Amino acid sequence: MQGMTEELRHALDAGEFVLHYQPKMNLVTHRFIAAEALLRWQHPHRGLLLPSEFLEAAEQAGLAVPLGRWVLETAVQQIADWTAKGLDLGVCVNFSPPELSNPALLDHLDEVTTRFGIDPEKVNVEMTESAAVTDLETTVDHVLGIRRRGMHVTLDDFGTGYSSLTWLQRLPVDMLKIDQSFTRRLGDHPQTYAIVDAVIRLSHALGLVTIAEGVETAQHLAQLAELGCDSAQGYYLSPPVPAAQLPVLV
Ligand code: C2E
Ligand code: MG
Ligand code: MG
Repeated sequence: MQGMTEELRHALDAGEFVLHYQPKMNLVTHRFIAAEALLRWQHPHRGLLLPSEFLEAAEQAGLAVPLGRWVLETAVQQIADWTAKGLDLGVCVNFSPPELSNPALLDHLDEVTTRFGIDPEKVNVEMTESAAVTDLETTVDHVLGIRRRGMHVTLDDFGTGYSSLTWLQRLPVDMLKIDQSFTRRLGDHPQTYAIVDAVIRLSHALGLVTIAEGVETAQHLAQLAELGCDSAQGYYLSPPVPAAQLPVLV
C-alpha cells in the first residue's frame, strides 16, 4: 500500500495521468453535445490502467483533491481547445465525495474557468449520492454554487444506490444519468423497460434532463429514443478515447 501511495504521488507529479473522453449524443438531434472525461493512468510498466485499478487507492492516500484538481484543469483546458477549433462541446467531469465537500471547490472552479476563458455552461459535474451521504450540507451548498455559475450537475449511476429517491428530493441537480445496469437489460427484461420508462417520466416531471449510459446496441438506442430519453452514451456510439480520436474530430 505504501508503495502504491508513493507511486500515485509520483504519477501526479510526473504527468502519468491522462483523460479519455466518451461522447454523449443528443437523441433528438443525433449530434454529440458533450464528452465525459474519464481518468486513466499511463503506468510506466503496467500499461494503461482504469480507475477501478487505482482510484480507491488514490482516495485512501488522500490524493482525491489534488487529482481532482488536475482532472478539472485538464478538462477545462480541453473545452478551451475545442472552442478554439470551433467545436461546441461541453465536458462532464466526475467528482468524488472529498472533492465535492472540499471548501476550496467553488474558488477553484472560478479560477480555472476564468484562466481558460471558457463558457461555464460547458462544464458538467457528475456526482453520485455517496457525496451527499458523506456530507449533505456542504454537498448541497456546492451543488447550488456550481449551478449558480451556470454549470450543470448530473446525478450519476442513478438507480443503484439504496435510496436514490431521497437524494433526488434533496440534491438540486439538473441532470440525471440512468445507470448502465438498467440500459444493459433493456432489451430482454420487460421489468427493466418499465423501470427505465418510469425513471425518464419522473426525471422529466422534476424538470431534469435525462441521460442513459452503457448503450451497447442499436436496440438500446432505439428503445431509449422511444422512451423519450434526452441523451445517451455507450460503446455503441463510442468508447472513451483520447481527445484527438473523438468521433466528432475524425
Ligand atoms: P462512471 O462515471 O459511471 O463512468 C462510466 C463507466 O462506464 C466508464 O468506466 C466507462 O468507460 C464505462 N462505459 C462507458 N460506456 C460503456 C458501455 O457501453 N458498456 C460498458 N460496459 N461500460 C461502459 P471507467 O472509465 O472505467 O470509469 C469507472 C468509474 O470511475 C466512473 O464511472 C467514475 O465513477 C470513476 N471515474 C472515472 N474518471 C474519474 C475521475 O476523473 N474522477 C473521479 N473522481 N472518478 C472517476
Ligand atoms: Mg460519470
Ligand atoms: Mg455510471
